[in-house]
Amino acid sequence: MIVRLGLFAAICTAVAFPASAETYFVKTQKDYFAAEKVLNAGDTIVLANGVWQDFEIKFSGPGTKKNPISLRPQSAGKVILSGQSNLRIGGKYMVVAGLVFKNGYSPTGEVISFRRSKKDLASYSRVTNVVIDHFSKPDRYESDYWVGMYGKHNRFDHNHLVGKTNKGVTFAVRLDSTESQENYHRIDHNYFGPRPVLGSNGGETLRIGTSKYSMFNSNTLVENNYFDRCDGEVEIISSKSGSNIFRGNLFYKSRGALVFRHGDGTLVENNIFLGGGKAHTGGIRVINRNQTVRNNYMEGLRGTGFASALTVMNGVPNSPVNRYVQVDNAIIENNSVIDSGRITFNAGADQERSAVPVNSRFKNNLLGGAGGGSFVKIQDDISGIAFSNNILTNGKIEQSVVGIAEREVALVRAKNGLLYPKSENVGASRDLKPITRDQVGVSWYPKPSSADRFNTGKAIDVAPGEDSLTAAFAAASEGDRLILGAGEYLVNKVLPLDKTISIEGPKDSVARIRFARPSLVEIKQGGSLRLANLTIDGDMAPDSVGNAVIRTTIFPIQSNFLIDMDGVNVTNLDVNRSFHVIALGKSSLADRVSIKNSNFNNISGSVLQAAAETEDYGQYNAEYVDISESNFQDIGGEVFNIYRGGRDESTFGPHFSLTDSNFMNVGRNKNNISRTSMVLHGVQDAVISDNNFLDAAPIKIIHTVGRPQTRVSGNRAQNMPEPILEELNHEGAHRATLSNNQFEGATKP
Ligand code: CA
Repeated sequence: MIVRLGLFAAICTAVAFPASAETYFVKTQKDYFAAEKVLNAGDTIVLANGVWQDFEIKFSGPGTKKNPISLRPQSAGKVILSGQSNLRIGGKYMVVAGLVFKNGYSPTGEVISFRRSKKDLASYSRVTNVVIDHFSKPDRYESDYWVGMYGKHNRFDHNHLVGKTNKGVTFAVRLDSTESQENYHRIDHNYFGPRPVLGSNGGETLRIGTSKYSMFNSNTLVENNYFDRCDGEVEIISSKSGSNIFRGNLFYKSRGALVFRHGDGTLVENNIFLGGGKAHTGGIRVINRNQTVRNNYMEGLRGTGFASALTVMNGVPNSPVNRYVQVDNAIIENNSVIDSGRITFNAGADQERSAVPVNSRFKNNLLGGAGGGSFVKIQDDISGIAFSNNILTNGKIEQSVVGIAEREVALVRAKNGLLYPKSENVGASRDLKPITRDQVGVSWYPKPSSADRFNTGKAIDVAPGEDSLTAAFAAASEGDRLILGAGEYLVNKVLPLDKTISIEGPKDSVARIRFARPSLVEIKQGGSLRLANLTIDGDMAPDSVGNAVIRTTIFPIQSNFLIDMDGVNVTNLDVNRSFHVIALGKSSLADRVSIKNSNFNNISGSVLQAAAETEDYGQYNAEYVDISESNFQDIGGEVFNIYRGGRDESTFGPHFSLTDSNFMNVGRNKNNISRTSMVLHGVQDAVISDNNFLDAAPIKIIHTVGRPQTRVSGNRAQNMPEPILEELNHEGAHRATLSNNQFEGATKP
């Protein structure tokens, strides 16, 4: 009935009367679409509070500057779009506010699209106070955008976007038709919350344009947003069009950099980058022409290479649009870099990227390294950059440069929380105002904390016995610790892990877990596992293919997970020929696998198989693998097998660290096809140091792309061949550094 009256009003006003605004209160999708058909300037649709399941909203109409058309909830935060839902906006002067997308994902390529159809693009329209919370496609490698911005003069402000776990940029500004170029969009005061490591290209938080349209100006303003732990890949923001402005944004503990990937004439000013000492946190990377970087503040960044605090790249002569245009007429001035890992000039210099920066200025910058080590890298000719009045404090520069004075500068923390020189007038201005988490996003929706995932719940005592652990596991809540006493625990079911659980035994007596199924634990969506002070015995496991103490579900897992073993003994995994401790399957990514103070013996397979992503798309199964102070004896397969194939350069991982551990009779099972004790294929950062090997198959290290860092040092080996080293894409000698190792009495592999 309401809808009919609305239609009647619409006809009347269109004919003769000035607009009289209608408000349509709708409770069903049918009522919604009836109202949407007849919208006039000034009208409002109000969605009734509740969960709207599988609702693909289309919202278009003839709003005007004076009388926009609105879509809003009955109460802010009380309308939940879940299941297969999305929002497509067309028309003019359309405003959407206060919706929450959660518990589902978009069936199309976007959750919010600023176009209703290819013909009906939104303009002068606004999305504000909207939440998109973990609304990710279940398959982590199926791509979509959470926001696709088309048209012109649109605004996206005070929104909350957290937890995108599948491939595809979180927010894409599209320039794929003339109606979307020179767009003057405004993206401001948004909370871009944690985006976990994707483990592949396509994990950018914001991208403006694409290489194909990068010769067009976008004129998009990105202002006063907060990027909180946006770790997806090497680019936090990828600017791929001309004349954008990035101003007043804050990047908190976010891995990667703001990158001028394509397009000219972009301005980056008054931004603050706080790395908190976290690995791979970067700043600004300059490519292309007429770029300005001024008055930015960086502190505690640890990125190097392409993720340096300031990176100026070499270009490709006469570059095709999808490669690297030479830096020309860049102005980099009044930036403060403090306690940071690296500044790189001529980054990426190689035979192809041989065009050095020209006509550029670098002045009044304060450059402060972390510690006193290597800080400013110069990888080619910098004569095309005029340096003046810069100060380098704390950290080494590769060659002295006129215009960079090296001297100590005393720093004082000011009221705005930032460090400034006590006396020198260099670096960022004193009136910077870091935007806070409270000033961005949505006030009625909580922002995620940074709490440790483990030990957030209750401690629950579990007595020994048959299936006592099974029952306790099923009843446990997120973050709980199951505390086992001394004795035997028999588990007759695979324990399904869909939350964070710790299982802890006593330190000075033995809690022994036996399991009667092919696995003890299966990691599912949301699962993370910590094991401490336990003995895990595989002697009751059946002889079935693919046995593993810890395995991942056969379905894709959106969420990254943790596996932590401390003081764990694993033994008797020998009922068949490849019984593993940890086996990670396709479409699963561990943020970290950590093993310390643990013992593994009599195992026919591997301690860690992280080699399921075999398509060579640059994907992999574990971001960090850390092993220390552990013993490995009679392990038939590769003890560790980590694989990242392909030539993609968009990820920082995998990382591998193995220290202070002992290996005896490993990798020598006849069924071990690789005939190695470990395979690191495409690992970007590897340390193997201070370990002992006796009777071991060789270590195999294969470098693929990028600048892999591999250090093998201080290892002692008897009856073990020297490491097998291969480079797949790099001409010349292998780039691993080997020092201080002893490989004695090695037999040929
Ligand atoms: Ca990328």
